[in-house]
Amino acid sequence: AIYLTFDDGPGPYTGRLLDVLAKYNAKATFFVTGANPKYYDQIGRAYNEGHAVGVHTYSHNYRSIYSSEEAFFQDFNAVQDLICDQTGSYTKICRFPGGSSNTVSRYNPGIMTRLTSDLNDMGYAYFDWNVSAADTASNATRYTVTENFKESVPKHDYSVVLQHDTNAFSVDAVEDILFWGSRNGYTFRALDLTSPAVHHSVAN
Ligand code: ZN
Repeated sequence: AIYLTFDDGPGPYTGRLLDVLAKYNAKATFFVTGANPKYYDQIGRAYNEGHAVGVHTYSHNYRSIYSSEEAFFQDFNAVQDLICDQTGSYTKICRFPGGSSNTVSRYNPGIMTRLTSDLNDMGYAYFDWNVSAADTASNATRYTVTENFKESVPKHDYSVVLQHDTNAFSVDAVEDILFWGSRNGYTFRALDLTSPAVHHSVAN
């Protein structure tokens, strides 16, 4: 099984991503922010079409969200309200900006250890990734995203793939990814509380 995940949206390319997912009857997961109010309705569309929606934080601002547990959850809850407005329910899944292994939070020693523990205590599941399409690399293209995917996915029983639906070429690559995956016997599923917990090692 493959769990495609898209961070940092919704944005201008989310609609066409949902179109191609529908064409292949593939499900995916969207870890959303509050950055693009113009596209908030895409959160509701994704949910209604059977995709999972999770929290990625409202601001995605490392300096503020990792400054304290209180600051993190204030920002986290702002996305929960946004998700509830758009879908009618709160979510139980999330992804940390930078992943749980991030070191950008080291200005606040131990914050990731505390936040991962808090989320577990609150019944949330956070997800990292074991396949990166590397779509934020400076030389990334539709082709490199697809090749990274095809090279890494066969190494895992369950692949949780990191992409960003704020990158047009990464969204374009999904057509190639779904074509290749469906030809090679994979199924594309949405994450939920029962999905394999793909976690990095907490480094702060
Ligand atoms: Zn992000």
